[in-house]
Amino acid sequence: MTAFRLGLTGGIGMGKSTTAAMFAAAGVPVWDADATVHRLYAPGGAAALALAAALPQAIAADGAVDREALRRLIAADPSVLDRLNAIVHPLVAADRAAFVASAQADIVLLDIPLLYETGAQAMCDAVAVVSAPPEVQRARVLARGSMTEAMLETILDRQMPDAEKRARADYVIPTTTLEVAQGAVKDVLADIRRRIAADA
Ligand code: ADP
Repeated sequence: MTAFRLGLTGGIGMGKSTTAAMFAAAGVPVWDADATVHRLYAPGGAAALALAAALPQAIAADGAVDREALRRLIAADPSVLDRLNAIVHPLVAADRAAFVASAQADIVLLDIPLLYETGAQAMCDAVAVVSAPPEVQRARVLARGSMTEAMLETILDRQMPDAEKRARADYVIPTTTLEVAQGAVKDVLADIRRRIAADA
């Protein structure tokens, strides 16, 4: 039987990585969209090889995709983003499908930062959204020290508002404290296993 695909998403700093690690610790295999893109962009990676032919200006000397060059190319010509997506999205989808097909588990977690923004809910049997109050989110992101308020605003403008994500989600995992999030992870897994049993 194929595994139940639980999507996990949430705005920047909401605690998605921390929560994904809790699912992993509970024995749930985790597929990480960002890590997958990283691998595909590395020297010899499938996206790096495909882009070397289609967008050679986006490839660094070592053969990896140069993200900074990509950003400049997209800024200069927005149609580059469509060409990039046409190459990268099918590779990411194939990687995800292979992961789900080979998983030896009743539930797998698909960790996808821009899940709703990219329509990836269509690939999920349910979606869980990590959420904390906006002031907690801001404080967490700014505490990392690598981002200014202005940079955070730009990123937040590109993401679906938290309230909208929560309204669409099957499950909301509050990340106010580690204990609260841990309890919610346990409840979500129990609820999905009830659903799987009821459908069997
Ligand atoms: P994201 O992957 O959503 O950007 P992270 O998981 O990296 O977020 O968490 C952002 C920050 O919030 C980190 O400093 C992390 O320690 C903290 N954090 C995450 N989840 C919780 C939680 N449930 N309770 C308290 N702090 C949390």
